Amino acid sequence: MSYSKYLKDTNLVGGKWISADSGETIDVTNPATGDVIGTIPNCGGAETSRAIDAAAAAFPGLASMGLMDRLDLLWKLHDALLDNRDTLAELLTVEQGKPLFEAKGEITIGAAYVRWFAEEARRAKGEIVPAPGGDRRILVTKHPIGVVGMITPWNFPSSMLARKIAPALAVGCTVVAKPATATPYSGLAWGALCEEVGFPSGSVNIVTGSARKIGGAIMEDARVRKLTFTGSTEVGKELIRQSADTVKKVSMELGGNAPFIVFDDADIDKAVQGAIVSKFRNAGQTCVCANRIYVQAGVYDEFVEKLIVETKKMKVGNGLEDGVEQGPMIDMDAVEKVEEFVADATSKGGEVALGGARHDNGQSFFEPTIITQATQDMMFAKEEIFGPIAPVFKFEKEEEAIAWANDTEFGLASYAYTRDIGRIWRLNDQLQYGMIGINSGLITTVEAPFGGVKDSGLGKEGGSQGLEDYLEVKYTAVDF
Ligand code: NAP
Repeated sequence: MSYSKYLKDTNLVGGKWISADSGETIDVTNPATGDVIGTIPNCGGAETSRAIDAAAAAFPGLASMGLMDRLDLLWKLHDALLDNRDTLAELLTVEQGKPLFEAKGEITIGAAYVRWFAEEARRAKGEIVPAPGGDRRILVTKHPIGVVGMITPWNFPSSMLARKIAPALAVGCTVVAKPATATPYSGLAWGALCEEVGFPSGSVNIVTGSARKIGGAIMEDARVRKLTFTGSTEVGKELIRQSADTVKKVSMELGGNAPFIVFDDADIDKAVQGAIVSKFRNAGQTCVCANRIYVQAGVYDEFVEKLIVETKKMKVGNGLEDGVEQGPMIDMDAVEKVEEFVADATSKGGEVALGGARHDNGQSFFEPTIITQATQDMMFAKEEIFGPIAPVFKFEKEEEAIAWANDTEFGLASYAYTRDIGRIWRLNDQLQYGMIGINSGLITTVEAPFGGVKDSGLGKEGGSQGLEDYLEVKYTAVDF
C-alpha cells in the first residue's frame, strides 16, 4: 500500500499527532469491499478547543509572515500534492470509492486551487478613496480574518478542503478542520502535507470524530472568526443559526438540485456526453450533478435513445480497477435512498429505461439508471438524488423549462444545451442559480466563483471572490 504513509490514525493538533483523550477510535471502511482500512480518533470538544488554542496562537505569526515567504510555502504545498498525486489518489479511492482517474483529477484540481490562491493573494489590494475634504485620506485595507473553522463532506474529501485551506493560508488565516467521518484520511493528509512543507505548528489542525461535539466547540468559540462549511443544507442551516452567538462570518456550500435542459436546437451528441459526465461522475454523488434532465419534445426520443446507448458502456466496479467509470455509493443508506427514488417514480408512471437496481457486485454498488416519463410530482423533482439515477422529463416550451428548473429551493448549478444566442442570454438572466453551464456538463474550475444562491448557500469558493471570503475589510480615516 503506497498510501500507508498518509493513513494517519491520529489527529494533528498544535503540531503534534494525537489520539482522542478517551482513547476511542472509529473504523474507516472501503465502500467497494467493506474492508476496514484503518481507524481514526474519536475526538470531541476538548481536543477541538486545544486545536483552536493552537490555531489562535499561530495566527499572529502566520498573518505577519512576509507575503512571499508564506506564498513560498503554498508553492511547496502545490508541488507536494502533485509529487504525491498517485498515492493521495489511491488513498482517496480506497476511502471514498470513486474511480482512480476521478481521484487523480481531484488531487490535481486541489493543487490547482493552491496555485491559484497563491497567485491571487499577491493581488489582495486595498484602496485609497477620495475624501470629501482636502485634509483627510480614506484608506481601505484588507486583513486575514483570523482562525477559520472548516467542516467538509465525504464526496470530495480532498478538493473541498483545498478550496478552503488554500485561500485561508494564502492570506495568513489559521485552520481548524473537521473532515467527514466516512473519508477522513484525505483530510488528515492535508495536515501531514502542510507540516511536511514547513507551515508553522498550529497553522493547520485537523480533528476527527463526533460532528456535534467538534462542530459545537468550533461554533461556540469566539476566537474562530469564520466557519466555512460544505455539506447538506439541513446541517448548514443549523450551523448558520449557531454562528449567531459569536457573530461569525459563514461560507456555506450546500445541497443542489441541478436542472439540465436540452433544447430542440442543441447538439444532441454533445448534450448526451455532458449529461453523462454531469450525472454519473462520482456515482452521482456531487452537489452539481444533473438532478433533473429536461428535454424538449422534438428531440426527446433521440436524446433518450443515445443516452441509453452511452450509459450502457459505463463500467461499474472497484475504483482501483482499470477502466472503471462508476464506483460504489458511499454506504447502504445511500443505496436505500436511491431505491426510494426509483420506487416513487415507477409508482407515478415513470419507466425504468436502464438499470434501476443494486448492481451484481454487491456492497453499495448501484446500476447506472435512466428513468423516462419523469414528471414534476416525483420525488427527484424536489430532492437531491445523490446517486446514479438520471430522470428524463419532457417539456414543450422554453418558459416551461425555465419555470420547472427554478421550481426548487436550491440554486447551485444548472445546465442548458442550445445554440440560440438570444436564448443563452435569457437563461443567464432567468435561471436562479449561482452557476450555469451552457453546452457544458463540467464547469468547476479554480478561476471561477463556485457557489450557490437560495438554500444552496452563501459565499464563493475559487475565483478572486474565494479569497475575499477570508479577508476582513478595514477603513482608516487619516486627518492631517
Ligand atoms: P452532511 O451530513 O451535512 O455532512 C457534512 C459534514 O458536516 C461532515 O463532516 C459531517 O460530519 C458534518 N456534520 C454533520 N452534522 C453536523 C453537525 N450537527 N454539526 C457540525 N458538523 C456536522 O453532508 P454529507 O452527506 O457529508 O455531504 C453531502 C451533501 O453535501 C450534499 O447535500 C451535497 O450537495 C453537499 N455538497 C455541497 C457542495 C457545494 O459545494 N455546494 C459540495 C459537495 C457536497 P460526519 O461526517 O462526522 O457526520
